Amino acid sequence: MAGEDGHDHINDAALVAKVSEPLLSQACQRINFRWGKLHVTGKAYRAVVRALNDSRIDIFEADGAEHTLDPDAEASYIGNPESMIIQPHLNAHIAFNQRVLVHEATHAAQDDQLNGEWVWSLDDEATAYIAEWLFVIYSSPNPKHLISNPDPDDPIEVIALEIARALADHPGASPDAAAMRRLGDAIFKDPTYSVRMALHPWTRDDGVTDPDFP
Ligand SMILES: [Zn+2]
Repeated sequence: MAGEDGHDHINDAALVAKVSEPLLSQACQRINFRWGKLHVTGKAYRAVVRALNDSRIDIFEADGAEHTLDPDAEASYIGNPESMIIQPHLNAHIAFNQRVLVHEATHAAQDDQLNGEWVWSLDDEATAYIAEWLFVIYSSPNPKHLISNPDPDDPIEVIALEIARALADHPGASPDAAAMRRLGDAIFKDPTYSVRMALHPWTRDDGVTDPDFP
């Protein structure tokens, strides 16, 4: 509940609704895969939506002061304190932005499910990318014409899509371990992640506060 860990912010209902829409979409709700102890499912995203709705996860628009966001990023999830920062006036009807919201909500689901567990940081990032591309596949009426395409020069996107294609329509399946290693290598080589992954190869989330009425 808001207040227990020192933040009594109450989320703006319009922001919660905006971010929740792609998470509650049929495409996102169809996501269902496992990696280690993480189980990414529609239910996991509904738990994130509930936490946003109850302000157990805060949501803010970036203001360049208290709530900052890399100018290149549309959204970001922070585990401590649990919060989602999004660009002001983010258009949640654009496929790219929906991908980003699913990606960041996957980090929130990790925080919720992997409370206190040490996990390989590359796995956290890899599973968020795979979820993002499963969302794209399930959102696309024609699987040959995706609503959003990977950047062919970005091996992270290309490999994550390849893994997502193999997982699609196999509920509860796990990615191929060798493909996960390739995706982890691509993430590690990306300058966005290299330093953080080298400094913090393992991460431990501290959980999302339970609802008052579970
Ligand atoms: Zn991420």
